[in-house]
Amino acid sequence: SRRSPAAQGRLGALKVRALRFELFIDNEWVDAESGKTFETFSPHDGKVIAKVAEGDKADIEKAVAAARRAFHRKSEWRQLTASARGRLLHRFADLIERDAQYLATLESTNNGAVCTMTHFLMSGAANYARYTAGLADKIHGDTIPSDFEGFTYTLRQPVGVCGLILPWNVPVLMFVHKVVTALAAGCTMVVKPAEQTPLTALALVALLAEAGVPRGVVNVVNGYGPTAGAALTHHPHVAKISFTGSLEVGKLIQQAAGATNLKRVTLELGGKSPLVIFDDADLNVAVPVAANGVFLHQGQICVAASRLFVQSKIYDEFVKRAVEFAKTRKVGNPFDKTNQNGPQVDEEMMNKVLGYIEKGKAEGAKLLTGGKRIGTTGYFIEPTVFADVTDNMTIAKEEIFGPVQSILKFETLDEVIDRANDTNYGLAAGIFTNNVQTALQFSKHAEAGTVWVNCYLGGGPQGPFGGFKDSGLGRESGLEGILEYLETKTVNIAVSNKFC
Ligand code: NAD
Repeated sequence: SRRSPAAQGRLGALKVRALRFELFIDNEWVDAESGKTFETFSPHDGKVIAKVAEGDKADIEKAVAAARRAFHRKSEWRQLTASARGRLLHRFADLIERDAQYLATLESTNNGAVCTMTHFLMSGAANYARYTAGLADKIHGDTIPSDFEGFTYTLRQPVGVCGLILPWNVPVLMFVHKVVTALAAGCTMVVKPAEQTPLTALALVALLAEAGVPRGVVNVVNGYGPTAGAALTHHPHVAKISFTGSLEVGKLIQQAAGATNLKRVTLELGGKSPLVIFDDADLNVAVPVAANGVFLHQGQICVAASRLFVQSKIYDEFVKRAVEFAKTRKVGNPFDKTNQNGPQVDEEMMNKVLGYIEKGKAEGAKLLTGGKRIGTTGYFIEPTVFADVTDNMTIAKEEIFGPVQSILKFETLDEVIDRANDTNYGLAAGIFTNNVQTALQFSKHAEAGTVWVNCYLGGGPQGPFGGFKDSGLGRESGLEGILEYLETKTVNIAVSNKFC
């Protein structure tokens, strides 16, 4: 394989089996048509770890053509039974489990997630693959009584060639969520990983090939959004795009779909999720859960609890404990198991987060701990707590994607429902209370795709996930997730000659 000396030195320590850095098209490793490569970095020390082939429009053309051939009704892939697709996905899950240590290390090296989190995510990825493997042979339509003198049945069929565009924050999980669901449905695909984190997708597609995925079914083209990504979203032979990333790019994708072949689009976008703490909550649980909800992965999670509403009676006590708790959070090398936070993904994101912190101070929020970069090597930021945040401040309105807890005060349930919903986002919401009616009222009225009660961040592959409002379109996971990769066909059959 083509590997830079830097990569050999640094990745060598990871016992890399055979990580390749080219594009994966039609089950072959190939250079980009242009011959270009780009460097990928390790955010904990800013050093180059590998040079990766940089695909663009020409490579997307090749990859879509391969995926299209693989989707032909007579292809090896289309001839597989649904249960054979399920078995393939179980083999993939086995391989993820076999290589969990390696995949977790690669993920932590490339995006800075702490190793305790990446290990947890690898078992989540394998579980997701197993759950979805089980769905493959349970896709079926209905037999429907109709006014027509005959009968009507429906078929659920794979939508076709899918473009799967990934973010950098949890690349393994995003790859597995999208690819495995599309495979269970019977689709073929071209995956475009985020330019910040090109490596784990290459490792995963090698495992899919090892599991026996036929030629052309899964193709991986690394490259940049405006070139490789846009070529995929504008391609007339791509039937569907599944995208996870920012609202800004999500809007471009929907425009591209509208401007071309009306491709189906699912969007998993950002959030500004409220977590509401009522005065009857157990603070011994609520304080650490709220902290984890916003500090996990340095705040780089779409469902981060980035607006923390605390009821007035417990406000001062909660703020005091939140600050004490934030100060205990250890930040540093993601491979040190005692660290809970690693670096932000790159310098640009670090500066963006620091910019939001400055805005918070300038607009009058009270900075109680953190607020600064740590050291000058790598992109580390102190866990930061702001109190006395008000609804109109920038840090209460915009997605920060950093370790910044913003605490707001509220008085009543009615008031906090309106304030929690006063955002264009609608990804998640949470509530801590011992009053069941308060919890049920909030869960009913929260404009969010996921609500957590007396917990935050838990869940499994069985539950649908997605956003209201600007947080997205469609659902991933659960039974609903696979419907996004299927078309419904209605067949009417005459039982007499009356209509002939
Ligand atoms: P991003 O939108 O900048 O990039 C995401 C992907 O889109 C990358 O692969 C990028 O190359 C590609 N892209 C960029 N421009 C494109 C274009 N013009 N056409 C096609 N593709 C293009 O997002 P990011 O910074 O990588 O990720 C962070 C964002 O993702 C946050 O807003 C976060 O909330 C969101 N996110 C959402 C979920 C969810 O499930 N809802 C999960 C994780 C992350």
